[in-house]
Amino acid sequence: MASIELVQVSKSFDQNTIIQNLNLKIDDGKFTVLVGPSGCGKTTLLRMIAGLDPQTAGAVLIDGKDVTRIAPGQRGVAMVFQNYAIYPTMSVRENIEFGLKNNKVGKEERTRLIESISETVGLREYLDRKPSTLSGGQRQRVALARAMVKKPSVFLMDEPLSNLDAKLRVQMRIELIEMHKKLGTTFVYVTHDQVEAMSMADTIVLMNRGCIQQEASPEVIYRQPSNLFAAQFIGVPPMNIGELGADGAKFGFRPESAQLSSAREGGFFSVRGKVITREMLGSETIYQVRTDRHSFMIKCIEDSFSVDDTVHVGVEADRIYFFGVDEGRVGRE
Ligand code: ATP
Repeated sequence: MASIELVQVSKSFDQNTIIQNLNLKIDDGKFTVLVGPSGCGKTTLLRMIAGLDPQTAGAVLIDGKDVTRIAPGQRGVAMVFQNYAIYPTMSVRENIEFGLKNNKVGKEERTRLIESISETVGLREYLDRKPSTLSGGQRQRVALARAMVKKPSVFLMDEPLSNLDAKLRVQMRIELIEMHKKLGTTFVYVTHDQVEAMSMADTIVLMNRGCIQQEASPEVIYRQPSNLFAAQFIGVPPMNIGELGADGAKFGFRPESAQLSSAREGGFFSVRGKVITREMLGSETIYQVRTDRHSFMIKCIEDSFSVDDTVHVGVEADRIYFFGVDEGRVGRE
């Protein structure tokens, strides 16, 4: 296991500075997810940790040791990519064995490790198959097994599930969480999918334009977003945002924090509007409600309204967030 620390790290490609003076501590043995919109620098950050794209300035420490001058292969990290490069002509066993042979691990130990890893990732009965006869999820497991067998102290994963269909992705998420529990290794996982981040992370590092916006547990990011960006990035549908007068300040509330009613009820915030769209998802319904000044998404358990109905949107005071002109949340800890 290992902790990771980035100290005043910057990265430029030619004249373009992608990351500037970034500081980050990743805890030993935790499942940390780097999440943010496309192009915000997540992969760049991961590749700096791996040593594949060294930083332009600053230091990367693994277990307290500066690894800046240490080659990727010597850092004790394993990286699993989106396009899991497994060798098509080799069987699953040979794919897993490849790295071990390179590391001069003896035959008996190789066999023992392959048995144990294939059990962990659920591939035991597929060891003699060729990758072309496996499903996408099984191939992804081969890539994981190949990385795992080297017993890295850090796992770096860059969108490893993005090539899988939605159902398999959900299943693999659960499997990754279980693998993490079993291995107890530090996992650093990159995704642009906030649902993936919320469901897997011990700690989410939320990035935008090369900067860390918030670093916290999924629950804290959801309940106490530090700024407008965090408030709107996490949550489906995203937080509703409204303008407060002409001074640039904003308020927000989550779609699941509002009630819809046909008559005006009390409550801190209450506004009349009209249902524009209705999306029945089974256990809940999402309404789009247009008011005089805003359009809000409201998530309800009941499915009591139809398009064109006049409704009242009510939100309790403790469910409303306020954001200053600088877009920081007012009253954050
Ligand atoms: P995505 O979710 O789309 O993979 P990301 O957050 O991982 O995005 P990065 O791949 O880290 O983003 O890229 C961050 C920025 O750095 C982008 O603007 C990208 O164009 C730029 N960039 C990345 N690699 C290079 C490179 N080798 N040369 C020049 N620019 C690069």
